[in-house]
Amino acid sequence: MTRPHIAVLGSINMDLVAYVAKAPQRGETVTGREFRTLPGGKGANQAVAAARAGATVSMIGAVGNDTFGTQLRSALDHSGVDTDLLRTVEGPSGTAHIVVDDDGGNAIVVIPGANDTLTTLSPGDTAEIASAAALLLQLEIPMEGVLAAAQAARAAGVRTILTPAPARPLPPELLAATDLLLPNEHEAAALTGLPDPADAARALLDQVPEVVVTLGAAGSLYVARGAEPVTVPARRVTAVDTTGAGDTFAGALAVALCEGNYLPQAASWASAASALSVQRPGAAASMPYRTEIDTEAG
Ligand code: ADP
Repeated sequence: MTRPHIAVLGSINMDLVAYVAKAPQRGETVTGREFRTLPGGKGANQAVAAARAGATVSMIGAVGNDTFGTQLRSALDHSGVDTDLLRTVEGPSGTAHIVVDDDGGNAIVVIPGANDTLTTLSPGDTAEIASAAALLLQLEIPMEGVLAAAQAARAAGVRTILTPAPARPLPPELLAATDLLLPNEHEAAALTGLPDPADAARALLDQVPEVVVTLGAAGSLYVARGAEPVTVPARRVTAVDTTGAGDTFAGALAVALCEGNYLPQAASWASAASALSVQRPGAAASMPYRTEIDTEAG
């Protein structure tokens, strides 16, 4: 089968990860067990996830002219992601400061750095998006950049999958250019003010034709206009680090959709991919390859 071509516009960060028994509360200092620097950022993570899941992927993004920038670019290259459209800009690369606790839960502070320069598309970016089967977007870069990319994809008839993370109000023009909205349950609640994921998903259907809400260990919920909601269960596994679970899901989901699968089927394959990723430490580092996903999905 020909590998689908997927474009990703989004953030690239160095993840600075502290592993602790229990995350500190405000004003508290705790002694952690281990520290790692791992390439991350929701954009780069989704790019790596999609590449490992079987797509040819081009990453549109920016890194700083610091050591992290060099490392981040080469990590993407090594993952087989095309970095021709990656800009290197003056100043620091994006960083994410992550605390992972013994239950596999995480808390994260992101400092955007170079990612904040992604406000417009170059002609090369626009051409790349137009040639893709799907465009993956998240919200760790300026909204102007996200909107420009979604509109370029819409103009070219390219399917846009938007992960609305970190949650913030979405301009109606962005929703109008989005084919599939992919929030986790917290983002779905933040976007709608509705704590129940099924209610939130239904409310979001007023603005986009298809919604998948990911529910962590409870799986995911798919809703589409005029169709019954479908719950896709998660695999029962022991999570050691859930950082990047949603990005693994997004990348794998995009590949399965581009290969012609229906959404619930694609979500089931994506849940196999993310179940593999939560059993290993790190975000991009933990993402599974095609053969592993196929084996896990059965
Ligand atoms: P995010 O990382 O964006 O918060 P979720 O936590 O909802 O996203 O996870 C995305 C997907 O990863 C879920 O729909 C599920 O398929 C899988 N997943 C997450 N946590 C677990 C877990 N503990 N066990 C098995 N699968 C999981």
